[in-house]
Amino acid sequence: MATEKLYYQNQYIRSFTAKLQKSEKDEQGRFYAVLDQTAFYATGGGQPHDTGTINDVKVIDVEEVDGEIHHYVEKPLEMQNECVCEIDWNRRFDHMQQHSGQHILSAAFDHLFSYRTVSFHLGQEICTIDIETENLSEDEAFQAENFANSIILENRPIEAKWVSEDELEKYSLRKELSVSENMRLVIIPDFDYNGCGGTHPKSTGEVSTVKILHWEKQKKNIRVYFVSGNRVIQQLHEKHKVIQSLMTILSAPQEKLEEAAYRVLQYSKELEKNIDDLKMKLLGDEANVLINGAQEFNTHKLIKVIFTNRPMAELQQLGKTIIANTDNIVVLLLNEQDKKIQLVCARSNDVNINMNKVIKQILPIINGKGGGSDSVAQGGGDQTIASEEIMNELLKSINQNLD
Ligand SMILES: [Zn+2]
Repeated sequence: MATEKLYYQNQYIRSFTAKLQKSEKDEQGRFYAVLDQTAFYATGGGQPHDTGTINDVKVIDVEEVDGEIHHYVEKPLEMQNECVCEIDWNRRFDHMQQHSGQHILSAAFDHLFSYRTVSFHLGQEICTIDIETENLSEDEAFQAENFANSIILENRPIEAKWVSEDELEKYSLRKELSVSENMRLVIIPDFDYNGCGGTHPKSTGEVSTVKILHWEKQKKNIRVYFVSGNRVIQQLHEKHKVIQSLMTILSAPQEKLEEAAYRVLQYSKELEKNIDDLKMKLLGDEANVLINGAQEFNTHKLIKVIFTNRPMAELQQLGKTIIANTDNIVVLLLNEQDKKIQLVCARSNDVNINMNKVIKQILPIINGKGGGSDSVAQGGGDQTIASEEIMNELLKSINQNLD
């Protein structure tokens, strides 16, 4: 038997008693109760379900299945004649505000610019409507929001009416109905006529206010993000908290925040550039020290160093700086880091060794990967043997490849 829907008689019922008709378990093992009448709204028409309690047992979900309203409960209800039911009114009233705010905002876009709403979503925190236009200007959004808020301020009645197909012709609907029986219209006189099965307050004033937050392209439409009612205060509260905190961090009043943030970013970019310049200068000095201490190697000079925890990019830069600043030199740089080993092998243009070939001979020893050009090659792998041994292997390889 179909459950009697009390929210269609009076949308403000928040506690009621009902007879328990069924207490069962569905195919997914969820416990549910069926009552002879209910004020719990079941998910539908874009409005989320109510929550609350039946005989102090939590109702976590509500669905309509073949006219029967299933109240999904945390634990099975004991069969007894009368149940005391309580709806989470804050949640329900919030849904009523969001849902009616959506009607009003959609109608405002429709009246002002003929942008029709093709779909909407009432989210946990933010609601959206998708309107049929490829672009939305700041000014249009501002006008629609203002118009919606003027309708709210006028405190117009919001009426719900069940109509037959014949009666339907009398109304100019914002959107075609998706059903052909049990048709219910939600009406804001001289403003909006819309088919809807959801719950709404009795007048627009209870929506309190509508605020558009932002919008973005969604395929060929525009998705408008907005909040209504108490959520506007909540949003204002959260945004204000962020702004207050930014004002302290940046030592600037609200109207100067943008400028202050921009200045900080600029400053940090300049610092980064200064640091890069200084690093290059340090590497140049380090290269000079290494060049001065280079040892004899056959008829060439040799620099070999084992570092710990140095970035690979720095090692490569150091190798390149050395071979650019001196002739007849071979450079072997190793770096130990977290049981890994990295190597850079370089030589000046007048030394006839293929460094790519040298490094490729060594990489298998450390299960490594890498490569490079004839003059500079780099790679990395596991610290399978001591770095001194890897260095010796590199020297052996260089001796083999030397003309
Ligand atoms: Zn509605």
